[in-house]
Amino acid sequence: MASSLRHFAGLGSPAGTASAASSCFLSRYTPNFCAFAALRPARPAAAVVAAGKPCLHAEQPPQHQQLEDEEAAPRHAEHHERPAAPALRVGIVGFGNFGQFIAAGVQRQGHAVMAASRSDYSAYCAQHRIRFFRTVDALCEEQPDVLLICSSILSTESVVRAIPFHKLRPDTIVADVLSVKQFPRNLLLEVLPPGFGIVCTHPMFGPESGKHGWGTLPFVYDKVRVAEDGEQAAKCDQFLSIFEQEGCRMVEMSCAEHDRYAAGSQFITHTIGRVLSQLNLKSTPINTKGYETLLQLTENTVSDSFDLYYGLFMYNVNATEQASTLQFPYGAPYL
Ligand code: NAP
Repeated sequence: MASSLRHFAGLGSPAGTASAASSCFLSRYTPNFCAFAALRPARPAAAVVAAGKPCLHAEQPPQHQQLEDEEAAPRHAEHHERPAAPALRVGIVGFGNFGQFIAAGVQRQGHAVMAASRSDYSAYCAQHRIRFFRTVDALCEEQPDVLLICSSILSTESVVRAIPFHKLRPDTIVADVLSVKQFPRNLLLEVLPPGFGIVCTHPMFGPESGKHGWGTLPFVYDKVRVAEDGEQAAKCDQFLSIFEQEGCRMVEMSCAEHDRYAAGSQFITHTIGRVLSQLNLKSTPINTKGYETLLQLTENTVSDSFDLYYGLFMYNVNATEQASTLQFPYGAPYL
Protein backbone atom coordinates (compact mmCIF):
# COMPACT_ATOMS: atom_id res chain seq x y z
CA MET A 1 0.00 0.00 0.00
CA ALA A 2 2.82 2.35 0.86
CA SER A 3 4.24 2.22 -2.59
CA SER A 4 0.87 2.82 -4.25
CA LEU A 5 0.15 5.76 -1.97
CA ARG A 6 3.62 7.01 -2.58
CA HIS A 7 2.95 6.95 -6.26
CA PHE A 8 -0.41 8.59 -5.80
CA ALA A 9 1.07 11.27 -3.60
CA GLY A 10 3.60 12.19 -6.25
CA LEU A 11 6.52 10.87 -4.26
CA GLY A 12 7.77 8.56 -6.93
CA SER A 13 9.65 11.11 -8.95
CA PRO A 14 10.90 14.55 -8.18
CA ALA A 15 10.00 15.46 -11.72
CA GLY A 16 6.38 14.71 -10.90
CA THR A 17 6.33 17.21 -8.10
CA ALA A 18 8.21 19.68 -10.21
CA SER A 19 5.29 19.71 -12.57
CA ALA A 20 3.52 21.79 -9.95
CA ALA A 21 5.49 24.50 -11.75
CA SER A 22 7.14 25.74 -8.62
CA SER A 23 10.50 27.39 -8.88
CA CYS A 24 11.04 26.63 -5.23
CA PHE A 25 13.74 24.07 -4.62
CA LEU A 26 12.15 22.57 -1.54
CA SER A 27 8.71 22.41 -3.10
CA ARG A 28 10.22 20.62 -6.03
CA TYR A 29 11.98 17.93 -4.01
CA THR A 30 9.86 17.65 -0.92
CA PRO A 31 7.24 14.91 -0.92
CA ASN A 32 3.74 16.10 -1.66
CA PHE A 33 2.60 16.32 1.94
CA CYS A 34 -0.81 17.73 1.07
CA ALA A 35 -1.61 14.59 -0.88
CA PHE A 36 -0.25 12.51 1.98
CA ALA A 37 -2.29 14.34 4.56
CA ALA A 38 -5.46 13.74 2.61
CA LEU A 39 -4.70 10.03 2.72
CA ARG A 40 -3.96 9.89 6.44
CA PRO A 41 -6.62 7.82 8.20
CA ALA A 42 -8.77 9.77 10.68
CA ARG A 43 -7.52 7.17 13.13
CA PRO A 44 -4.90 4.76 11.86
CA ALA A 45 -6.85 2.32 9.75
CA ALA A 46 -7.23 -1.32 10.60
CA ALA A 47 -5.45 -3.83 8.45
CA VAL A 48 -3.17 -1.34 6.76
CA VAL A 49 -1.21 -4.23 5.42
CA ALA A 50 -1.93 -7.90 5.74
CA ALA A 51 0.40 -9.71 8.10
CA GLY A 52 1.41 -13.28 7.60
CA LYS A 53 3.46 -13.77 4.45
CA PRO A 54 4.17 -17.50 4.69
CA CYS A 55 7.55 -18.46 5.97
CA LEU A 56 9.56 -21.03 4.10
CA HIS A 57 11.11 -22.94 6.94
CA ALA A 58 9.65 -24.62 9.93
CA GLU A 59 10.19 -23.57 13.50
CA GLN A 60 13.57 -24.44 14.98
CA PRO A 61 13.74 -28.07 16.04
CA PRO A 62 13.07 -28.80 19.70
CA GLN A 63 16.71 -29.40 20.55
CA HIS A 64 17.24 -25.64 20.23
CA GLN A 65 15.01 -25.26 23.22
CA GLN A 66 17.67 -26.64 25.53
CA LEU A 67 20.09 -23.97 24.34
CA GLU A 68 17.91 -21.25 25.66
CA ASP A 69 19.21 -21.19 29.22
CA GLU A 70 22.80 -21.36 28.05
CA GLU A 71 22.11 -18.61 25.53
CA ALA A 72 20.46 -16.49 28.11
CA ALA A 73 23.47 -15.23 29.94
CA PRO A 74 26.64 -15.17 27.86
CA ARG A 75 27.82 -11.88 29.33
CA HIS A 76 27.45 -12.99 32.93
CA ALA A 77 28.77 -16.44 32.22
CA GLU A 78 31.97 -14.95 30.83
CA HIS A 79 32.60 -13.18 34.11
CA HIS A 80 31.41 -16.10 36.24
CA GLU A 81 28.62 -13.94 37.59
CA ARG A 82 24.95 -14.63 37.93
CA PRO A 83 22.33 -12.02 37.16
CA ALA A 84 20.32 -10.94 40.19
CA ALA A 85 17.09 -12.03 38.52
CA PRO A 86 16.58 -14.85 36.04
CA ALA A 87 17.28 -13.75 32.51
CA LEU A 88 14.32 -12.44 30.55
CA ARG A 89 12.89 -14.27 27.59
CA VAL A 90 12.20 -11.59 25.02
CA GLY A 91 10.01 -12.42 22.04
CA ILE A 92 10.60 -10.07 19.12
CA VAL A 93 7.78 -9.68 16.60
CA GLY A 94 9.11 -8.23 13.34
CA PHE A 95 12.68 -9.36 12.82
CA GLY A 96 13.84 -7.03 10.05
CA ASN A 97 16.63 -4.47 10.18
CA PHE A 98 15.78 -2.99 13.55
CA GLY A 99 14.49 -6.18 15.20
CA GLN A 100 17.86 -7.83 14.57
CA PHE A 101 19.75 -4.79 15.76
CA ILE A 102 17.86 -4.60 19.06
CA ALA A 103 18.13 -8.38 19.57
CA ALA A 104 21.92 -8.07 19.69
CA GLY A 105 21.69 -5.64 22.63
CA VAL A 106 19.19 -7.84 24.46
CA GLN A 107 21.58 -10.77 24.08
CA ARG A 108 24.61 -8.73 25.15
CA GLN A 109 22.78 -8.10 28.40
CA GLY A 110 22.37 -11.79 29.00
CA HIS A 111 18.75 -12.35 27.99
CA ALA A 112 17.27 -14.91 25.62
CA VAL A 113 15.76 -13.81 22.32
CA MET A 114 13.03 -15.54 20.32
CA ALA A 115 11.70 -14.08 17.11
CA ALA A 116 8.83 -14.31 14.67
CA SER A 117 8.47 -12.39 11.44
CA ARG A 118 6.62 -12.33 8.17
CA SER A 119 9.79 -13.30 6.31
CA ASP A 120 11.99 -16.27 7.04
CA TYR A 121 14.94 -15.41 9.27
CA SER A 122 15.63 -18.96 10.42
CA ALA A 123 19.15 -19.04 8.91
CA TYR A 124 20.11 -15.74 10.54
CA CYS A 125 18.63 -16.87 13.85
CA ALA A 126 20.41 -20.21 13.78
CA GLN A 127 23.71 -18.33 13.44
CA HIS A 128 22.88 -15.98 16.28
CA ARG A 129 21.53 -18.42 18.85
CA ILE A 130 18.01 -17.11 18.51
CA ARG A 131 14.93 -19.31 18.28
CA PHE A 132 12.92 -18.43 15.21
CA PHE A 133 9.23 -19.21 14.89
CA ARG A 134 7.37 -19.22 11.63
CA THR A 135 4.27 -17.70 13.22
CA VAL A 136 3.53 -15.30 16.05
CA ASP A 137 1.17 -17.97 17.42
CA ALA A 138 4.06 -20.39 17.82
CA LEU A 139 6.16 -17.70 19.49
CA CYS A 140 3.36 -16.92 21.95
CA GLU A 141 3.08 -20.61 22.87
CA GLU A 142 6.52 -20.13 24.45
CA GLN A 143 5.16 -17.44 26.75
CA PRO A 144 8.00 -14.90 26.64
CA ASP A 145 8.27 -12.45 29.54
CA VAL A 146 8.34 -9.52 27.16
CA LEU A 147 6.82 -9.34 23.71
CA LEU A 148 8.68 -6.63 21.81
CA ILE A 149 6.94 -5.26 18.72
CA CYS A 150 9.51 -4.29 16.07
CA SER A 151 7.27 -4.30 13.00
CA SER A 152 6.99 -1.38 10.60
CA ILE A 153 4.74 1.45 11.72
CA LEU A 154 2.44 0.75 8.79
CA SER A 155 1.94 -2.94 9.57
CA THR A 156 1.77 -2.71 13.36
CA GLU A 157 -1.98 -2.51 13.71
CA SER A 158 -2.58 -5.70 11.74
CA VAL A 159 0.38 -7.38 13.48
CA VAL A 160 -0.85 -6.49 16.98
CA ARG A 161 -4.46 -7.43 16.29
CA ALA A 162 -3.32 -10.86 15.13
CA ILE A 163 -1.42 -11.68 18.35
CA PRO A 164 -3.08 -14.56 20.26
CA PHE A 165 -2.96 -12.90 23.68
CA HIS A 166 -4.79 -15.82 25.30
CA LYS A 167 -1.66 -17.91 24.78
CA LEU A 168 0.50 -15.53 26.79
CA ARG A 169 0.69 -15.25 30.56
CA PRO A 170 -1.78 -12.64 31.81
CA ASP A 171 0.97 -10.42 33.25
CA THR A 172 3.13 -10.37 30.09
CA ILE A 173 4.75 -7.08 29.20
CA VAL A 174 4.16 -5.88 25.66
CA ALA A 175 6.62 -3.23 24.51
CA ASP A 176 7.20 -1.57 21.17
CA VAL A 177 9.98 0.38 19.49
CA LEU A 178 7.99 2.33 16.92
CA SER A 179 9.36 5.71 15.91
CA VAL A 180 5.97 7.23 16.61
CA LYS A 181 4.47 6.77 20.03
CA GLN A 182 0.86 7.85 20.49
CA PHE A 183 -0.33 5.45 17.83
CA PRO A 184 1.05 2.23 19.42
CA ARG A 185 0.08 3.48 22.89
CA ASN A 186 -3.56 3.88 21.90
CA LEU A 187 -3.57 0.68 19.93
CA LEU A 188 -2.08 -1.40 22.76
CA LEU A 189 -4.44 0.14 25.32
CA GLU A 190 -7.34 -0.78 23.08
CA VAL A 191 -6.30 -4.30 22.12
CA LEU A 192 -4.43 -5.79 25.09
CA PRO A 193 -6.24 -7.66 27.87
CA PRO A 194 -6.28 -5.61 31.11
CA GLY A 195 -3.53 -7.44 33.05
CA PHE A 196 -0.89 -7.03 30.38
CA GLY A 197 1.82 -4.45 30.96
CA ILE A 198 2.42 -1.81 28.28
CA VAL A 199 5.76 -0.07 27.79
CA CYS A 200 6.12 2.19 24.78
CA THR A 201 9.71 2.91 23.84
CA HIS A 202 11.70 4.61 21.13
CA PRO A 203 15.41 3.98 20.93
CA MET A 204 16.51 7.22 19.23
CA PHE A 205 19.14 5.42 17.21
CA GLY A 206 19.41 2.59 14.74
CA PRO A 207 21.78 0.16 13.06
CA GLU A 208 23.71 3.03 11.48
CA SER A 209 23.93 5.56 14.31
CA GLY A 210 24.28 2.83 16.96
CA LYS A 211 26.76 0.62 15.19
CA HIS A 212 29.62 1.61 17.48
CA GLY A 213 27.61 1.12 20.67
CA TRP A 214 24.59 2.62 22.38
CA GLY A 215 26.47 4.67 24.97
CA THR A 216 24.89 8.12 25.61
CA LEU A 217 22.29 7.61 22.87
CA PRO A 218 18.78 8.61 24.00
CA PHE A 219 16.24 5.93 24.82
CA VAL A 220 12.71 7.28 25.28
CA TYR A 221 10.20 5.24 27.24
CA ASP A 222 6.75 5.59 28.70
CA LYS A 223 5.45 3.05 31.23
CA VAL A 224 1.92 3.33 29.87
CA ARG A 225 0.45 0.61 32.06
CA VAL A 226 2.67 -1.36 34.40
CA ALA A 227 1.82 -2.81 37.83
CA GLU A 228 3.32 -0.72 40.63
CA ASP A 229 4.99 -3.68 42.26
CA GLY A 230 5.33 -7.42 41.98
CA GLU A 231 6.72 -9.48 39.17
CA GLN A 232 5.46 -7.34 36.31
CA ALA A 233 7.06 -4.21 37.77
CA ALA A 234 10.32 -6.07 38.31
CA LYS A 235 10.32 -7.45 34.78
CA CYS A 236 9.63 -4.04 33.34
CA ASP A 237 12.59 -2.60 35.24
CA GLN A 238 14.72 -5.50 34.13
CA PHE A 239 13.71 -4.91 30.52
CA LEU A 240 14.51 -1.20 30.72
CA SER A 241 17.81 -1.99 32.42
CA ILE A 242 18.96 -3.62 29.17
CA PHE A 243 19.19 -0.17 27.61
CA GLU A 244 20.49 1.46 30.76
CA GLN A 245 23.28 -1.14 31.01
CA GLU A 246 24.13 -0.55 27.36
CA GLY A 247 24.80 3.05 28.37
CA CYS A 248 21.74 4.72 26.82
CA ARG A 249 20.56 8.06 28.16
CA MET A 250 17.20 7.02 29.61
CA VAL A 251 14.47 9.61 28.96
CA GLU A 252 11.06 8.97 30.54
CA MET A 253 8.53 10.94 28.52
CA SER A 254 4.85 10.70 27.61
CA CYS A 255 4.03 9.38 24.16
CA ALA A 256 2.32 12.67 23.26
CA GLU A 257 5.36 14.70 24.23
CA HIS A 258 7.62 12.37 22.26
CA ASP A 259 5.55 12.87 19.12
CA ARG A 260 5.64 16.65 19.47
CA TYR A 261 9.42 16.68 19.79
CA ALA A 262 9.95 14.02 17.12
CA ALA A 263 7.91 15.88 14.51
CA GLY A 264 10.22 18.85 14.92
CA SER A 265 13.42 16.85 14.99
CA GLN A 266 13.37 13.32 13.62
CA PHE A 267 10.73 13.88 10.94
CA ILE A 268 12.48 17.01 9.70
CA THR A 269 15.83 15.21 9.68
CA HIS A 270 14.44 12.34 7.61
CA THR A 271 12.67 14.74 5.25
CA ILE A 272 15.75 16.82 4.59
CA GLY A 273 17.82 13.66 4.21
CA ARG A 274 15.38 12.36 1.60
CA VAL A 275 15.36 15.70 -0.21
CA LEU A 276 19.17 15.65 -0.30
CA SER A 277 19.21 12.08 -1.56
CA GLN A 278 17.38 13.27 -4.67
CA LEU A 279 20.35 15.50 -5.46
CA ASN A 280 22.74 12.58 -5.76
CA LEU A 281 25.41 14.40 -3.76
CA LYS A 282 28.98 13.22 -4.21
CA SER A 283 32.02 13.57 -2.03
CA THR A 284 34.57 16.05 -3.40
CA PRO A 285 38.27 16.59 -2.66
CA ILE A 286 37.36 19.83 -0.88
CA ASN A 287 34.46 18.82 1.37
CA THR A 288 33.67 21.26 4.14
CA LYS A 289 32.62 19.93 7.55
CA GLY A 290 29.09 21.07 6.81
CA TYR A 291 29.02 19.22 3.53
CA GLU A 292 30.38 16.06 5.22
CA THR A 293 27.45 16.34 7.64
CA LEU A 294 25.00 16.53 4.73
CA LEU A 295 26.55 13.47 3.09
CA GLN A 296 26.33 11.57 6.36
CA LEU A 297 22.73 12.63 6.87
CA THR A 298 21.81 11.45 3.38
CA GLU A 299 23.49 8.11 3.91
CA ASN A 300 21.83 7.53 7.30
CA THR A 301 18.39 8.49 6.05
CA VAL A 302 18.25 6.38 2.94
CA SER A 303 19.52 3.32 4.79
CA ASP A 304 16.14 3.28 6.56
CA SER A 305 13.17 1.85 4.68
CA PHE A 306 10.74 4.14 2.93
CA ASP A 307 7.97 2.53 5.02
CA LEU A 308 9.64 3.96 8.10
CA TYR A 309 9.68 7.48 6.70
CA TYR A 310 6.14 7.17 5.46
CA GLY A 311 5.02 5.97 8.90
CA LEU A 312 6.71 8.95 10.57
CA PHE A 313 4.45 11.24 8.60
CA MET A 314 1.23 9.25 8.50
CA TYR A 315 1.19 8.21 12.17
CA ASN A 316 2.45 11.32 13.94
CA VAL A 317 -0.36 13.85 14.07
CA ASN A 318 2.15 16.67 14.53
CA ALA A 319 3.95 15.89 11.29
CA THR A 320 1.51 17.67 8.99
CA GLU A 321 1.97 20.98 10.74
CA GLN A 322 5.70 20.48 10.71
CA ALA A 323 5.68 19.60 7.02
CA SER A 324 3.84 22.78 6.20
CA THR A 325 6.83 24.76 7.44
CA LEU A 326 8.74 23.30 4.50
CA GLN A 327 6.40 24.83 1.95
CA PHE A 328 8.32 28.04 1.36
CA PRO A 329 6.53 30.81 -0.50
CA TYR A 330 6.64 30.67 -4.28
CA GLY A 331 9.83 32.13 -5.65
CA ALA A 332 11.21 33.01 -2.26
CA PRO A 333 14.14 35.35 -2.94
CA TYR A 334 16.64 33.26 -1.05
CA LEU A 335 16.02 30.13 -3.11
P1 NAP B 1 10.60 -1.00 8.80
O1 NAP B 1 10.54 -1.03 7.33
O2 NAP B 1 9.99 0.15 9.50
O3 NAP B 1 10.00 -2.35 9.38
C1 NAP B 1 10.40 -3.62 8.92
C2 NAP B 1 9.75 -4.69 9.77
O4 NAP B 1 8.32 -4.65 9.60
C3 NAP B 1 10.21 -6.06 9.37
O5 NAP B 1 10.33 -6.85 10.53
C4 NAP B 1 9.08 -6.56 8.50
O6 NAP B 1 8.95 -7.95 8.55
C5 NAP B 1 7.88 -5.94 9.17
N1 NAP B 1 6.76 -5.77 8.24
C6 NAP B 1 6.68 -4.90 7.21
N2 NAP B 1 5.49 -5.03 6.59
C7 NAP B 1 4.84 -6.02 7.22
C8 NAP B 1 3.57 -6.63 7.02
N3 NAP B 1 2.75 -6.25 6.04
N4 NAP B 1 3.19 -7.61 7.87
C9 NAP B 1 4.01 -8.01 8.87
N5 NAP B 1 5.23 -7.48 9.09
C10 NAP B 1 5.64 -6.49 8.27
O7 NAP B 1 12.17 -1.07 9.14
P2 NAP B 1 12.97 -1.22 10.52
O8 NAP B 1 14.09 -0.29 10.41
O9 NAP B 1 13.29 -2.67 10.72
O10 NAP B 1 12.01 -0.70 11.67
C11 NAP B 1 11.24 -1.55 12.49
C12 NAP B 1 10.58 -0.73 13.60
O11 NAP B 1 11.59 -0.13 14.41
C13 NAP B 1 9.73 0.42 13.05
O12 NAP B 1 8.54 0.50 13.80
C14 NAP B 1 10.59 1.65 13.28
O13 NAP B 1 9.83 2.81 13.48
C15 NAP B 1 11.35 1.25 14.55
N6 NAP B 1 12.65 1.93 14.71
C16 NAP B 1 13.55 1.88 13.69
C17 NAP B 1 14.76 2.53 13.85
C18 NAP B 1 15.80 2.51 12.74
O14 NAP B 1 16.79 3.23 12.84
N7 NAP B 1 15.66 1.70 11.70
C19 NAP B 1 15.05 3.23 15.04
C20 NAP B 1 14.11 3.22 16.06
C21 NAP B 1 12.91 2.56 15.89
P3 NAP B 1 9.79 -8.88 7.55
O15 NAP B 1 11.21 -8.41 7.62
O16 NAP B 1 9.59 -10.24 8.13
O17 NAP B 1 9.21 -8.72 6.19
